Amino acid sequence: MRTFVYTSHPSRVVFGSGTADRLADEVKRLGGSRVLLLSSPPLAEASARVREALAGLVAAEFDGAAMHTPVEVTERALSVLREAGADCLVAVGGGSTTGLSKALALRTGMPQVIVPTTYAGSEVTPVLGETRDGRKITQSSPAILPETVLYDVDFTLSLPPAMSVTSGVNALAHAVEALYSADADPVTDGLALDAISRIARALPRLAADPADRETRADLLHAAWLAGTCLATVGMGLHHKLCHTLGGSFDLPHAETHTVVLPHAMAYNASAVPDVMRRIADALGVADAPSGVHDLVASLGGPTSLRDLGMPESGLARAAELATATPYPNPRELTTEGIAELLTGAWHGRRPEGPSSTQAMLARLTEQVVASFAQAPDPRVRTLLSDLVRHLHTFVATNDVTDGEWQYAIDFLTRAGEISGPTRQEFVLLSDTLGVSSAVDLLTNSRTPTTTPSAVLGPFYVEGPPEAAHGSDISAGLPGTPLWVDVRVTDTDDKPVKNAVVDVWQSNKDGFYDVQLPDLDGPVLRARLRTDADGRITFWSILPSPYPIPDDGPVGQMLAAVGRHPNRAPHLHFMLDAPGHRRLITQLFVAGGAHLDGDTVFGVKNELVVDFTPQSGPTPDGRRVDGEWRRLDYTFRIAPLAD
Ligand code: NAD
Repeated sequence: MRTFVYTSHPSRVVFGSGTADRLADEVKRLGGSRVLLLSSPPLAEASARVREALAGLVAAEFDGAAMHTPVEVTERALSVLREAGADCLVAVGGGSTTGLSKALALRTGMPQVIVPTTYAGSEVTPVLGETRDGRKITQSSPAILPETVLYDVDFTLSLPPAMSVTSGVNALAHAVEALYSADADPVTDGLALDAISRIARALPRLAADPADRETRADLLHAAWLAGTCLATVGMGLHHKLCHTLGGSFDLPHAETHTVVLPHAMAYNASAVPDVMRRIADALGVADAPSGVHDLVASLGGPTSLRDLGMPESGLARAAELATATPYPNPRELTTEGIAELLTGAWHGRRPEGPSSTQAMLARLTEQVVASFAQAPDPRVRTLLSDLVRHLHTFVATNDVTDGEWQYAIDFLTRAGEISGPTRQEFVLLSDTLGVSSAVDLLTNSRTPTTTPSAVLGPFYVEGPPEAAHGSDISAGLPGTPLWVDVRVTDTDDKPVKNAVVDVWQSNKDGFYDVQLPDLDGPVLRARLRTDADGRITFWSILPSPYPIPDDGPVGQMLAAVGRHPNRAPHLHFMLDAPGHRRLITQLFVAGGAHLDGDTVFGVKNELVVDFTPQSGPTPDGRRVDGEWRRLDYTFRIAPLAD
């Protein structure tokens, strides 16, 4: 059992595109009416936008924020603040502008609204590092923590790609160190892993298209999560080294983080192998430290301290400074070990993973991923790159043998061989592994107000026979007669006429017509069209539970893990109407077998409905002796514009 302490910091976060429009409201919410607007000259355009959004609330401006929060800059800003009688701080910029705002808030108790334009994460931490006489002093206090953070992705579009990479890796460093922090906790772990995978996904996309808002939003979201990690748990060796190199050798903040991170990770890797594996998984690489190095190198980011202006003669002193007052770290810091680490970082060497096999594997993965770089369709590039990363990680994590991989290939070959026009083993495989349902869940989440969809299954046949309303699609097959009366409406509950509704189902013994070669023609499948009231009616028979075809490789897989092959009884529907999204779904018989253990994981509670037992007269006067069933249901389908 894990023992931990978790403390969260109170702050309000507004996130999105165009959120600057809410600035005036956010200032007023904090009781502000006279704003001191803080920025720096490269952000003149952003501060003009903020000034406009603040609509007359700006009492004064100060655009002299500088890196590492020098106290003389703070003193100058303080006089502007006092002269203007300001009562609220609004800072637009990176960590430097945020630092100035925090320094002023600490001295005046004034509320702050921060509008971050980089991925440094300072806006969510109660930490301030100030420089006085060339020395950086860091302190932490609730009075430093900004009250409101307003993330507007639009302000990050101007951050040049090279700075976006280093700032993104700065955020990555917060998340990485949170995972092996001495005070790590499960909540922060979750935030950190989410941040890492967002950053790994977004940075290559950003290099391809720096103006893509979704990519920028992913990075900004990650920056917030990573900043929250930094605020919540203590940092280790990496941050110590960066503070030492930034403070004593005046190296640039984000660039230093970018160079040092893979080396600090490699130093710690042997002490926290599980953490490194989780980071590697989140990054989608086989080895975490070299994976970070390769990511930075592939994006053209800095990889050596030499290129940042670090004198080689300073390495020994830096190692001594960093080990003199170390931060808690999973692996003990020795001066020789840290000197070696810094030498590797100075030369820009690729940190080798724990074994040369893993390093070679990581290189191989990156070579394959790089081979997709020229794909004209970015989605194809993303999907193939991610697939290869996951496949390589799968092979590495499970130490897959030659024989096992050959078996996997034979398995897929057999799945192909058994497939044909009426048998689709790959659909069965996707269904029984739950992948079809996973894709379906994502699809559903995009249209929450409509009838849930369900998997297509392997037995749909294009172009079923047309059937008239009230006709019997069972062609007299034995079974409990079923009267189906369903309506199709849109999301405003208005009937959808002329919708094409394909239905298909199994017979009383659980077989579809395509599984029964002796049957004459298609049965228990039909196409009907809704009338002006959005309605169709037909006769059929009560569907039965049935096993999916289990005489092929999928059946062997189920048998190998002791799983049954059965599906809960259901009726398939596919609805197509002009101007509407296609809906593929199933209605399950309430009380039927296997509802809790459907072998394709396809049952959704909303789709389990009554096939109500009836006796006596039928709706269309057809004579039925004994019990018959009735299904009444209304499908809601989404307009295409949604
Ligand atoms: P920064 O704020 O110094 O910005 C770097 C440069 O980029 C500046 O010239 C800035 O004007 C410009 N810039 C920023 N956003 C831009 C944009 N969208 N478009 C164009 N130009 C833009 O850099 P940073 O890395 O964000 O912050 C570094 C500082 O923040 C350091 O002093 C560091 O110590 C501090 N920091 C503090 C914490 C904390 O929790 N206290 C956390 C992270 C960083």
